[in-house]
Amino acid sequence: MEIDPNLQRLLIKTVAERVILHTDELVALDQAIGDGDHGLNMKRGFEAVLADLDKFSAMPLGESLKGVGMALVMKVGGASGPLYGSLFIALGKSLPAQADRAGLAQAFAAAVDAVKARGKSDIGQKTMIDVLVPVLSILKDAKSDLPARLCSAAQEAASATIPVRAQRGRASFLGERSIGHMDPGARSASLMVCAVVDVMEGRA
Ligand code: ADP
Ligand code: MG
Repeated sequence: MEIDPNLQRLLIKTVAERVILHTDELVALDQAIGDGDHGLNMKRGFEAVLADLDKFSAMPLGESLKGVGMALVMKVGGASGPLYGSLFIALGKSLPAQADRAGLAQAFAAAVDAVKARGKSDIGQKTMIDVLVPVLSILKDAKSDLPARLCSAAQEAASATIPVRAQRGRASFLGERSIGHMDPGARSASLMVCAVVDVMEGRA
């Protein structure tokens, strides 16, 4: 996998713009089972990333991911800022300069572990982890179709949070009433994964 500065720029820009485009949807999801700020939190964070797009495009990929993660920690706030920040920072630390599929899977595993550690959370609790873990499984499975399967799996995993009772974050305060709504962080994670896939497949 070779990522030149132009591709790196397109990846960061597409992910940021995709999340910003879905601000209202993420707000509505968080209004149902949280405090309604997830879309605005993410928008603020990714606007800060876009403001530094030239800087993040020119850095080596690992440094760039760490920089994006730091911007998200500083600007997103809420529960999701430190969690997405941990994801990007750990990915930046773990990704080798020349990563093949196995290297990417290993780095993403470290990133998902960082989110789990930060959130004291695991799969099945109706959070972003419920999307990140299935995405990791596809990366690890050398037989699954990359990148095509990644986006559909992420979307399915986000939808699969609907019938789940939340056990982490604000939604957990609702108990049974959290059932029947998609988790906002699971949705934002799926948006990011699909944006990366669109770039990889030449659609961005
Ligand atoms: P806040 O809940 O502080 O308002 P956001 O609305 O920005 O923050 O983010 C909420 C999302 O963060 C949830 O939908 C969920 O996916 C994720 N989240 C919250 N707590 C945790 C946790 N402990 N582990 C993993 N993800 C979490
Ligand atoms: Mg919120």
